[in-house]
Amino acid sequence: MNKTSELHAMVCVAPFTLEWQPLTLPPLGPRDVLVQIAQTGICPSDVRVYSGKSSIKLPKILGHEAVAQVVAIGSEVTSVEPGQWVVPDGIIKCGMCPACRKGRPNKCQRVRYASGAYGEATIVPETNVYPLRKTTSLRAATFTEPLACVLRGERMLHITPGETVLVVGCGPIGLLHVQVAKRFGARVLAADLKRERLDKALSLGADVALDPQQPLREAVLAETDGYGADAAVVAFGSSRLVETVATTLGYGGRLNIFAGVYPKDPLSLDPNLIHYNELVITGSADHTPIDYAEALNLIERGLIQVLPLVSDVIPLHELQRGFEMVQSQQGLKVIVEVNPALMR
Ligand SMILES: [Zn+2]
Ligand SMILES: [Zn+2]
Repeated sequence: MNKTSELHAMVCVAPFTLEWQPLTLPPLGPRDVLVQIAQTGICPSDVRVYSGKSSIKLPKILGHEAVAQVVAIGSEVTSVEPGQWVVPDGIIKCGMCPACRKGRPNKCQRVRYASGAYGEATIVPETNVYPLRKTTSLRAATFTEPLACVLRGERMLHITPGETVLVVGCGPIGLLHVQVAKRFGARVLAADLKRERLDKALSLGADVALDPQQPLREAVLAETDGYGADAAVVAFGSSRLVETVATTLGYGGRLNIFAGVYPKDPLSLDPNLIHYNELVITGSADHTPIDYAEALNLIERGLIQVLPLVSDVIPLHELQRGFEMVQSQQGLKVIVEVNPALMR
């Protein structure tokens, strides 16, 4: 690796403005690990911050879906060594706040963020690195973070084998939901307006691709003998879509609102629909360390296919183009090669 003094990062300095700047990292603490970032997946939430649609303050180095190699370890680190490949979790939870102590560290009230993964290196605590097996694809490991979020959302649906689950929005996140719901034993109905995304969903295990020309409620009822779906995920940020999906649920149906809606747009839902049909409406955001470990395990065991979700691989200096691709929803997952020399 370059000397720490020669590191750089792509910094989001203002909305729609990225700058290649020298990277200054804090000193390595005794329980810290210095890692060199190899590849980072672009998350729609990065694009939201880049577009000025988030409350996150700029300037900031974004990027949180990384795979990295350990470069140096603090004096008290015992579980990893320099040279080892890891997935670093740059969201550092305190472990002591009420949310952490209630088992919701994903909502940590004193959270800290490591320097982002569109920089050449970062420092995270030893507890935030997840070592890879020797055979794991580096590119596949960049999906650990989004899959961890998806696992959390899917658990809230309490799926039992044989139930019918509707996944609405078959971008990279929806395609992970399709696969996780299948692993829970569901029959999966996939909905999207784009034919190529539906085809991808079918190739990854969805049982039915719903006809985008047909109204969603009718399409779901036709596939469920008129009962409705047992559970549904809305993986596209739209209040109107959430309202429609709620009407596709059968008695006792569960709905997970997985995508944030920007700009703010309140829901209009008939309480009688929820009351009489005994619906359960949930949301989920981010991930816990348990979700992280389980997601990596699913990727490493080949139980969830992630490489078919990669549509583009770009160098770090083309990050702006990558953000534009994700924003315009052309392609699927865009991976950024931060240090292309780092491969195995
Ligand atoms: Zn993400
Ligand atoms: Zn906390």
